[in-house]
Amino acid sequence: MWGTVSADTKIWLDDQPVAVHQSGVFVFGFGRDAAATMTLRFEYADGSGEEVSLQIADREFDIERVNGLPPKTVTPPPEWRDRRKVETGRVRSARSVQMPETLWIDGFLKPAEGRFSGFYGSQRILNGEPRSPHYGLDIAAVTGTPVYAPAGGVVRLSAPDFLLEGGIIIVDHGLGVTSTLFHLDTVTVEEGQRVQKGEPIGTIGATGRASGPHVDWRVNWKSVRLDPLLLLEEGEH
Ligand SMILES: [Zn+2]
Repeated sequence: MWGTVSADTKIWLDDQPVAVHQSGVFVFGFGRDAAATMTLRFEYADGSGEEVSLQIADREFDIERVNGLPPKTVTPPPEWRDRRKVETGRVRSARSVQMPETLWIDGFLKPAEGRFSGFYGSQRILNGEPRSPHYGLDIAAVTGTPVYAPAGGVVRLSAPDFLLEGGIIIVDHGLGVTSTLFHLDTVTVEEGQRVQKGEPIGTIGATGRASGPHVDWRVNWKSVRLDPLLLLEEGEH
């Protein structure tokens, strides 16, 4: 959701501060398991304030239950744990920037041509144990298929070989909105580089933990994971 206020307004969504652009534009979003009610609080320059209660609609997600699987114990080697800590730290800091720009405002385009092969919010329950939900939109196509910036921005993370994600790019679209694209075969942009919407940034692959070539596209508002499919322009589905 986005809106406009006078630029000297302060805004919070529950206890999270919401950045306001110099044009007065602000943006926020809700995740898969958002509370049913949240409060948007405005504090105006003259000291007055206002609260708006937001009712968040329920939504069904695909849940797949698989039982009778042989128990599997996987103990990652310690050097993986250390490497993972570095990688997740890089992802966190890439997403922590609040760039004062609104490059998401013209909408998003599909980052690759291909078949949607995995959806936001879906979850598997293996032997009664819920796994963490899938937070990306997967687009499957042959290795080497171009991947485009879904909206303009600045590249905050670019790496060829993360353990789980493989080739990964994080693009900062401004005010806390970021796109993450991974399992890339090649990554052709550098950290700090500015990209235009639709500009090629890499290619589809099956790097990291992937069962076949696809790009996993995620969109965040700060640490809140949003459904990329809801952001695609009309005709892009
Ligand atoms: Zn995926």
